[in-house]
Amino acid sequence: MPPKPLRKCKSPGCGKLTRERYCEDHEHLIEKDKREKWIQYDKTKRYSEENKSYHAFYKSPQWIGMREAVKRRDHGLCVKCKSQNRLVPMDVVDHIIPIKEDWSLRLNPENLQSLCHACHNLKTAKEKAKREM
Ligand SMILES: [Zn+2]
Ligand SMILES: [Zn+2]
Repeated sequence: MPPKPLRKCKSPGCGKLTRERYCEDHEHLIEKDKREKWIQYDKTKRYSEENKSYHAFYKSPQWIGMREAVKRRDHGLCVKCKSQNRLVPMDVVDHIIPIKEDWSLRLNPENLQSLCHACHNLKTAKEKAKREM
């Protein structure tokens, strides 16, 4: 194996030549890099697994059945608009407390409401703003 080419140490501002990622003075940074990479990997993985389970949930027969029941209960109308005396057909069944916040309430009819797109978008935007505060 030919020796690895010399290159500059990756530590900002160092510039010493080395055949590894870091020069001798900065070797210890490799462990830190690994740790950070691992934390990042773990976060991404957890996030995609969560998304997968939400996805599976929205396709589950339990949810589809519950969604139909809520739709019937609310007479196919948006409950928010109805509370303002407007009769608007519902588009989505919404989790009042989002499943990301409380997974255990995902099939609780008390936590479900029929909404039109406009009301649902408004609610989602409000929740997003709250989370980012
Ligand atoms: Zn260095
Ligand atoms: Zn509405």
